[in-house]
Amino acid sequence: MTASGCPVCGYPEFITFDGYGPARVLCPCCGFDPGYDAGDEARTEALRRHWLEKDGGRWWSNCTPPPEGWNREAQLAALRVPKRHRGER
Ligand SMILES: [Zn+2]
Repeated sequence: MTASGCPVCGYPEFITFDGYGPARVLCPCCGFDPGYDAGDEARTEALRRHWLEKDGGRWWSNCTPPPEGWNREAQLAALRVPKRHRGER
């Protein structure tokens, strides 16, 4: 099974599952670790809230720069995250 797109932040370039299981790398956008956290929806939502509220929804990785024109809102919209979970007040 392969699945791409981070379930937490919606970053489309991230491979969550490769042919062997959960990816062994972290999402460069939000720091999501599929090896620990994949497949648990409540955990996914908690991680997303943490990323948005505690980290301000900032690009996570110091090594991988965000793609040109990176747009957090567009990513989250593609995930269909309810507005109340997007850190908006
Ligand atoms: Zn992510």
